[in-house]
Formats: sequence, C-alpha cells, structure tokens
Amino acid sequence: MDNTGLFQTPFVKDRIQKIPYAFAKKVSMIPLSEKSGFFEIAVSNTEDYEALKELRLFLGKDISVVASTKEAIDACIEQVYHRNDDETNSCIDDLESGVHEEVGDQEIDLLDNSSDSPVIRFLNLIFLEAIEQGASDIHFEPTESGLMIRYRIDGVLQERHTPPKEVQAQLSTRVKVLAKLDIAEKRLPQDGRIKLAMGARSIDFRVSTVPVVFGERIVLRILDTGNVVLGLDRIGMKEGTLQIFRSAIKSNQGIILVTGPTGSGKTTTLYSALSEISSKEVNIMTTEDPVEYKLPGIAQIGVNPKIGLTFSRGLRHILRQDPDVVMVGEIRDKETADIAIQASLTGHLVLSTLHTNDAPSAVTRLVDMGIEPYLLSSSLLTVLAQRLLRRTCPACKTAYVPTDQELQDLGIQRTDLVEGVLYVGEGCDSCFGSGYAGRVGIYECMQVTQAIKQQILHSVDAVSMQKCAYEDGMSSLKNEAISCMLSGLTTSTEVMRVTHHGDV
Ligand SMILES: [Zn+2]
Repeated sequence: MDNTGLFQTPFVKDRIQKIPYAFAKKVSMIPLSEKSGFFEIAVSNTEDYEALKELRLFLGKDISVVASTKEAIDACIEQVYHRNDDETNSCIDDLESGVHEEVGDQEIDLLDNSSDSPVIRFLNLIFLEAIEQGASDIHFEPTESGLMIRYRIDGVLQERHTPPKEVQAQLSTRVKVLAKLDIAEKRLPQDGRIKLAMGARSIDFRVSTVPVVFGERIVLRILDTGNVVLGLDRIGMKEGTLQIFRSAIKSNQGIILVTGPTGSGKTTTLYSALSEISSKEVNIMTTEDPVEYKLPGIAQIGVNPKIGLTFSRGLRHILRQDPDVVMVGEIRDKETADIAIQASLTGHLVLSTLHTNDAPSAVTRLVDMGIEPYLLSSSLLTVLAQRLLRRTCPACKTAYVPTDQELQDLGIQRTDLVEGVLYVGEGCDSCFGSGYAGRVGIYECMQVTQAIKQQILHSVDAVSMQKCAYEDGMSSLKNEAISCMLSGLTTSTEVMRVTHHGDV
C-alpha cells in the first residue's frame, strides 16, 4: 500500500513539527489527517502500544490507526520531514511542566522511550539525533533568552534546537545526574562521563560543565566507537604518503609525529597505525588524555593530572613494562619530549602528536622546547601534518563555474580546473541540508631523509625547514586541499575554511 500521496498535505507539514524525526523514524508512524477530536495515524505495527501512547502525547489528542507497510511510511517520513530547523521542536512544550526523575546506576537505553518525564524523553531524543547525524559533540549553551543546542558535525557547529529558558535548569540537572556530577555545585566547572546504551550498542559521552553568565554551559563529547573508521588505507592517504608512513611504522625504533590542530584526525591516524602493527609478538602501550577508543590487544593508560598521572609519568612507567611500541597522546613539554626521544633511541618505536600547523614546524617546536637538534636528526623518522576537509555530499553534488575572484582567493588558474568547473553540495535529506557528508583527510608527509637530517643539524628555522622539505619532494597541505577540491571531493569554501589562516 502506497500512501505517499496522502502525506503531502499542509496539515501533515504543520503537524509533524510536534513529532521528533528520530521518534517517527524509530517507531515508523506518521499522522495522516485530523478527524473530529482525533488524529488518524499511519503505522507499521498497530500493536506498538508504547509508541502510540507516546505519539498521543506529542499530538495532544486521541488517535486512530491505519496499518501500512514500514517501507511506505519510512519513505514518507523522509519526504515530509525534509530536515528543517524546527524538526525536533517536539516535546519542548511539555518540558515546562516536566518532572525531574532521579536515575540510579542502571544503564539507560536511548531506544527505550517509556519514561514519563518529558525532560528525559527530550534529552534522549537529542542524544539519538546527534548520534544519528554523526555529531562528535553536543553543546548546551545558555543565552539571555533561552538555551541553544548545537551539534558539531564533521568539525563544524550547527544549531539544532532552542528550547525556552524554563527548561534549561532541568536539562542541565538531568545531564549532571547522568554524569554523576554534584547537582548543587553550579559555580565551579565539573567533568564527568555518561555511558548509555542504544540497543546493543554502548556509547560513552565525556561531559564538561562550565558556569557562564547565563547559566551552565555543557558540552558532551560523543565517544562512539562504532563510528570510527580505522585503517591507514581508509583515511584518505595518497599512495605515496601511505608508503612512506607504512615503512616508518614498521621500523624497530625511532619517533613518528602526527601534527595538526584539535579535531584534525590525529588520533584516528595513530590508532590506525597501531592497529596495523598490533600482533601477538609486540607489546604496544599508550598513554592518552583521555583514552578515546579501546583498541584490542593494546594496553592503554588514561592520564589523570588530578592524581599526578601526567604524560611524562605515564611514559616513564610504560618503559618499565617492556614495550616495543609506545604511543604518547601528545608531547606538551620538554620532560615528555626528552623521555620520548630517549625511548626512541633505545630500541622503541614511539608515536606521538604535536600541535603545529605543518610538518617541518614540528622540528622547530621540539628544538624550541629544548631538545638538541642532533637527537632529533638521529631519532625522527617521519612527521605527518594533517587536516580534515568536509566531503561534498555525493547525493546533491552539483557542478558550477567559479568566478575569477574565487579562483584568485584560492590561488589557482582557470586552466587548473577539471572541465572548467568546481563542485558544491546543494543540501538534501541525506546530508541534513548541509551539503556535506563525512570527511576526507589531507596529509603533508615529511620523511626524514638525509637532506632533512642535514637541515636539522644546520638550522631548524621554520622557513628553512619548510623550504628544504618542499625541495625534498613534500607536497603541502594547501596543495593537497586544492587537489581534493579539483577532483570534486570537497568545496572551495572548505579549502578556504581549513587553510585561510595562512597556516597551511
Ligand atoms: Zn546532500
């Protein structure tokens, strides 16, 4: 039975504002029409009483059901919702009268929507929606007039909901209860963790609260292991880079650095490298802040500065555990750098990250920290700088002819274009209107060749290091970004966004 035609009435468009998309999708039901005093609903499972009860709450009226196939309803849901900004404004109205419910130690399942509390239902829907849309973070930001809820998707924040001021306190209390934080403490920042189930999947959230002028600002980092794509051949490395990097991680000793700002995918690259070399014959140990994903067969230590367990201390202890390969989450200070380099010179392969904009600057940074250049020239194997660019949505990708100004901003000629065009995503259902779907990594790989070693000993001045690396055949991040854009993988806006500080 095909109900498609029935769903396109203005009535439905108006009515679905009340029903969160995530809910409609999950239970596969959608309102058809309003009769005297009740709504007629199309459902695939007429005996899903819990869901019907919930729907009745959303609509605020009695309902009568019409059976239809799941496929037909799902197709209509996609069509009707079209993912506008109001999509899940849903149960916000109910929230104001909501009651707060204490939670115990039992694990909460996001797919279990049986709670009577509108706050709990609303928060569960936000979690579900964020996970479904592939968000990495959820922001609850108090403003003068209310609360702004934003998701970070593919590295960029997107506003999703703006519930009224009245529910702000209830939502933050609920999040703090889940994260086992002190509910009464509203003046000091707090950190915690939430573990939730989504059916058979388990999802961890790292929670941070900070008091700001209009209340408590809460950010949840979603640590969804099910979402990570590991594998050096799956993260967008070009063949040449892959070869250099792979040969480096097969070395018995030396140091490999991955650089880039927060959120540039450094951890994924390191995890991919570790998974590739992991075997029963090697002892791999890591010290991380925090342990983001648990890797099978690898001993991971989470640093905890509150009790004095820093990177450097973690690293010292790892070295007494007879490791072959060591990963240090980040080199932040001379002490950590010293131990890492000593370890790499005494028969260990060390992997770590640094916050520098490009690969050659990693050398400059370490020398600035106080490391002797000769130690670097003899221990450093490879430095990889990376960024993530949002990938143009394949479903709504459209070609266009760029203007002269656009080409000038990008620093390219019209003759560089493939068939005279660039591509942009116009926004569609599958990309939630953003025009982007997923991300693609770009890499600048500096192999420490004889020429680079000579340069390190001669001068680690950033400009000279860079010049030497380019002469040695390294392709810059900017070039890699442009080449991604020319092949239609990403947009000129993304290239400008990621490279606009002149730091690439
Ligand atoms: Zn799209």
